[in-house]
Amino acid sequence: MKTEVVRVSTGNVAELLQAPASALRRGEIVAFPTETVYGLGANALIEAAVQQIFLLKGRPQDNPLIVHLADKTKIEQLAKNIPQEFYQLYEAFCPGPLTFILEKTDLLPEIVSAGLSTVAIRFPDQRVSQELLRLADVPVVAPSANISGRPSATRASHVLDDFEDKIPFIVDDGATELGVESTVLDLCSQVPRILRPGVITADDIRVRTGIEVLPFSEGLNETDLRRPASPGLKYRHYSPEAKVIQVCGDHEKSLETVVLSVLKQHSNQKLGLFINEESWNKLRLEADIGEREVVEYLFSAENPHGSAAHELYAALRALDAAGVDVILAEAVPGAEAYMNRLDRACASESPPVQEQVKKILFVCTGNTCRSPMAAALFNAYAEEKQQASPIRWRVLSAGLHTMDGLAASDHAVSVLREIGIDISRHKSAQLTEEMLAEADIIATMTRSQRDLLQAFLPEQENKIKTLSEWALEQEADFARDVSDPFAQSEAVYRETRNQLQALIESLWQQINLLHAE
Ligand code: AMP
Ligand code: MG
Repeated sequence: MKTEVVRVSTGNVAELLQAPASALRRGEIVAFPTETVYGLGANALIEAAVQQIFLLKGRPQDNPLIVHLADKTKIEQLAKNIPQEFYQLYEAFCPGPLTFILEKTDLLPEIVSAGLSTVAIRFPDQRVSQELLRLADVPVVAPSANISGRPSATRASHVLDDFEDKIPFIVDDGATELGVESTVLDLCSQVPRILRPGVITADDIRVRTGIEVLPFSEGLNETDLRRPASPGLKYRHYSPEAKVIQVCGDHEKSLETVVLSVLKQHSNQKLGLFINEESWNKLRLEADIGEREVVEYLFSAENPHGSAAHELYAALRALDAAGVDVILAEAVPGAEAYMNRLDRACASESPPVQEQVKKILFVCTGNTCRSPMAAALFNAYAEEKQQASPIRWRVLSAGLHTMDGLAASDHAVSVLREIGIDISRHKSAQLTEEMLAEADIIATMTRSQRDLLQAFLPEQENKIKTLSEWALEQEADFARDVSDPFAQSEAVYRETRNQLQALIESLWQQINLLHAE
């Protein structure tokens, strides 16, 4: 079969859509754009046509399809006991990227709903889908036009990648407007709830209609025992060939710093970047980037929410096509639909890089000498060795009996300055329960500090050891405690520094081995 690509950018849309519309009506498969993604369309009334969709996509049979209609005129034929909220929401948001789960009638073949007693219905807001649905004048199932598990199609070329010469028609109207699938709203549960996040959020719904809906929540599938929520949520989705790793800057580390450090960890691999253009403009000047084979695909820094969602699938596909091994994709906090798709694109065998962040906490008495020195030495060492480590260490220090905000002692500052480390801006912190709870590794200076903390946190005593114990320097008795240089000469501080430095080197080896699995 030869696929005919119908381009509607020029010419009379209604005229151009005549042939695809009658093919659709007859039971043939037609891919077409909606405002969200491209759909792989089939006449929902013809069982064999719907079956064809499952086969083409390789879609699990228990994952129901969304039925697309031009408007609500014939909704009562497909759904019954329609709640009042539907009509209110329809007025506010339709046509638009909102799918309703309603009780189904017997009109549609079982296969559409995968045996559920409900049906998903939506009214796409896009000129081609509107015209095509009107011309075909039948309900149309249209899951995203991609092979199951792959990134969804947001351009006609993506549909061709997956289905060239396997379907008779692709209607091409350029890139889709939104780029992520519709919000799926369950109107059959006691309180309406979002089963899949999309551009329309629970807040939008409340603000525009006053209707309270439960926002999307990850655990929904498992917690609702009454009936399965949205079967499609359990499947692998949106995944390119390359491994996807989320990267995110915060107030401590810029996105650029994070990218550079992940880049170092994947030194032998070809890297793809999906980040905002402003960060790229800074990054491209870095020597580390210049030396590496990096393929970038950018989204707008001015409108990251809309733009990242718009480009995500295209980026994943393009970077795959460029043959990258790893894709670093920027997290955009607050962009709910985008983050949901990105999380799922990352959810492969290997955990996202965030899970590889571990915290190490150094504890001494005053947090002005030993522990800030240890933390700074660890940081310097980590900086040097990060490349070889699969873990990013966050380093903290605190004192058992101190006050917040004291500076490091003068000698501590000066002996570290001798080796190029600056702790002049250090401010002491009193140890808190929260710090203890959050740390993965706690290293005390002395055995009595260790005993105190272990007594305080008996269930987690394994993560609390003296620095010497972590470093496996247990033989010689003198190595066990790092004693307090407070109020002593600079020479004593220098000795303390040397002792800490040696201990931290072996601690680094030990904890990276321990935490690497
Ligand atoms: P897709 O068409 O690939 O974007 O997927 C449609 C989504 O809607 C999947 O996550 C389905 O599980 C979900 N869906 C379709 N019909 C129902 C239904 N009757 N009840 C709950 N979820 C549904
Ligand atoms: Mg899909």
